Amino acid sequence: MSFVFDIPSTLFFGENCCNKCGELLQNIGASKVLLVCDQAMVSLGMAAKLTAILEAADLEHVTFADVEPNPTDELVHKAATFAAAHKVDALLAIGGGSVIDCAKAVNILLTNGGDIAVYEGVNKVAKQTLPLLMVPTTAGTGSEVTSVTVVTDTRRHKKMVIAGQFVGGKIAVCDPVLTADLPAAISASTGMDALTHAIEAYISTLASPVTDGLALDAITLIMGSLEQAVADGDMKSRSDMMLGSFMAGMAFNSALLGLVHSLAHPLSAHYNIPHGVANAVFLPHVMNYNLGSFDSKLKALASAMGIAVEQSDLGDRIVSRLQQLAATIGIPQLKDLGVPETDFSMLAEEAMLEMSTMTNPKQPTVAELVDLLKTAYA
Ligand code: NAD
Repeated sequence: MSFVFDIPSTLFFGENCCNKCGELLQNIGASKVLLVCDQAMVSLGMAAKLTAILEAADLEHVTFADVEPNPTDELVHKAATFAAAHKVDALLAIGGGSVIDCAKAVNILLTNGGDIAVYEGVNKVAKQTLPLLMVPTTAGTGSEVTSVTVVTDTRRHKKMVIAGQFVGGKIAVCDPVLTADLPAAISASTGMDALTHAIEAYISTLASPVTDGLALDAITLIMGSLEQAVADGDMKSRSDMMLGSFMAGMAFNSALLGLVHSLAHPLSAHYNIPHGVANAVFLPHVMNYNLGSFDSKLKALASAMGIAVEQSDLGDRIVSRLQQLAATIGIPQLKDLGVPETDFSMLAEEAMLEMSTMTNPKQPTVAELVDLLKTAYA
């Protein structure tokens, strides 16, 4: 057996641990900090909370607050120009995966320069980046523990995956209190994203004993808390979701992903559908397609999902449980997302070229992916 396991960031977890951000930035020698966030963080008072923490630590700061979901190349270049003009020496990102990924991309541009598209792929970022401290407010992408950023290329309508050395941030500060007031629909879609990460990492062709352990524990945590977090997010369910989210991130950072992500990326790139929703609409259908390709892992997966393993037809039960979960937490159907059926061939062709397709346990044909899209649409 041989495998690689990598986590780029040191992680702090706990209720109210975001109060440590000033001290942590001081410890790494920051003097002028770029705060990256979006307008929701401003209106919810989270940007102001972090600004106050920076001021209490005597840290100079400037704020870029215009991040949008599925951040684009244009957006990250605009933010990088702003950051360069202010000569910052550290970055602090507070928000969902879109904010964290935008901050990672800005960080690449600040020290490596050029067009963000030239870094698409693995290990194309050659120079060390500045210290980046990440505070996730969704649970979630796990971006706070991955060596990955995802940026939409507006010219090619493609979600570019930029991965490898120097892409991840230095410190993750995971404070579940910041997710306490997440609206139900965002709790649902971001939670399904985390579940997708864990399941795809678990059955990936690059899975290892380390990623399996993390993925199974993440699945148990998420299956035990997602419905509660969506219905009435008490601190126990929020805390378990945040744990599950970054453990899933740690798993997929090394095991990589599968066909759910391959199909979801073109959907977000062409129609700006939120990443979590795009994953959630495909998860049960891809798992149904994958049945038979991960038999040795069926029992452990079913068990982590809370399914009694002495029953027969465990594969079908896994698919049904995922369908039932999506319906209970209000995930929409593919047909409700405004995706024209005439685009299915193009979406299938693009999904075939996605990096995640390589690590799916079963290799599809374009025709099979078109069928999968049709099934998900029915
Ligand atoms: P998001 O960051 O786009 O946020 C979704 C919405 O939730 C936004 O409107 C945001 O303002 C709002 N929001 C965030 N936190 C909130 C809070 N606490 N209360 C109220 N509203 C809040 O969604 P996301 O799913 O976290 O991130 C998706 C992005 O992350 C996509 O671009 C996806 O490709 C990327 N991603 C990256 C990785 C990685 O490893 N780098 C992994 C998975 C996904």
